[in-house]
Amino acid sequence: MAARTVKLAVIPGDGIGPEVVAEGLKVLATVAPAHDLALDTTEYELGAKRWHATGETLPDTVAAELREHEAIFLGAVGDPTVPSGVLERGLLLRLRFDFSHYVNLRPVRLYPGVHTPLGDVTPEDIDMLVVREGTEGPYAGMGGVLRKGTPGEIATQDSVNTRFGVERVVRYAFAKAAERPRHRLTLVHKDNVLTFAGELWQRVVREVGAEYPQVAVDYLHVDAATMFFVTQPRRFDVVVTDNLFGDIITDLGAAVAGGIGLAASGNINPERDFPSMFEPVHGSAPDIAGQGKADPTATILSAGLMLDHLGYADAARRIERAVGEDLQARAKDGLVRSTSEIGDDIARRVAEQG
Ligand code: ATP
Ligand code: MG
Repeated sequence: MAARTVKLAVIPGDGIGPEVVAEGLKVLATVAPAHDLALDTTEYELGAKRWHATGETLPDTVAAELREHEAIFLGAVGDPTVPSGVLERGLLLRLRFDFSHYVNLRPVRLYPGVHTPLGDVTPEDIDMLVVREGTEGPYAGMGGVLRKGTPGEIATQDSVNTRFGVERVVRYAFAKAAERPRHRLTLVHKDNVLTFAGELWQRVVREVGAEYPQVAVDYLHVDAATMFFVTQPRRFDVVVTDNLFGDIITDLGAAVAGGIGLAASGNINPERDFPSMFEPVHGSAPDIAGQGKADPTATILSAGLMLDHLGYADAARRIERAVGEDLQARAKDGLVRSTSEIGDDIARRVAEQG
């Protein structure tokens, strides 16, 4: 079979971004040829350095070029020298909105041997898929400030929930729940207080759920969900939730499943009208940048999510298995390795599975 070529845009970004992306690309380069996949990668310099040099976050010309790719592989952007919000709104959120990344997919899975602060739990207890809405909610940028600087100042930040936006992400979540062995879906919201949005989410879940009789549906308020993430993680299979709740509960998910160094994510446009973007949940971690201390595992797992999205499920499983083996070896040997040593080891394990 002739290899298929996938055009991949790479944004290494700031801080540890370039270090972890290099390891993700190393693993991709090992796994791709074995699955008749050729990656045609183009690197884009976006983030703090570009902003300092030119004032640009995402020039339209670059956005247009990114659009011509099948996927985007991102390290992290952000730096303490850039005012808060500039790169988040000007680059990350813009990509999400422009490319309609309405699914933010964040698996929360405990790999064997990985330490969890929960203590007495097994990998079977923590295996969920959080489907976070990516383009609406309080992130939509609606609202404003009145009487700024006066004692009567009012800042509002509206949560936008459209029928269209809620339904498409709920449909995606149900489809995932139907594919997974436990067939469970939990809606997380706060419908006793956020009554307008909550009622819409509830109604849409009820309506779409009628098409999936095999999926058991459950509802939790977000506050209760945070508690159960810690006390009864086994309750959760697929979780669907809005943008802000999803942001918060997935950091908690990362913490219970072994830490931010392992948490992967995909910003997905399921229809493939636009490139989807894959990145670790963590940020640029300026405190450890350039020291070879960053764990590249989250980025490598994000590369796996990307392969899955591109239609290479076997290649994705192979990365997950290699990471699982690496984490078990790490638990046994207590190895302390540099960023690139971890990448080398995972790439070697991927190759050995050939
Ligand atoms: P951002 O605003 O970009 O989300 P942040 O300041 O919230 O950034 P992170 O960059 O995610 O947070 O990092 C939080 C802390 O977690 C860092 O100080 C770093 O020590 C640690 N950390 C993050 N990612 C990793 C990693 N891949 N390996 C090891 N430690 C990490
Ligand atoms: Mg953060």
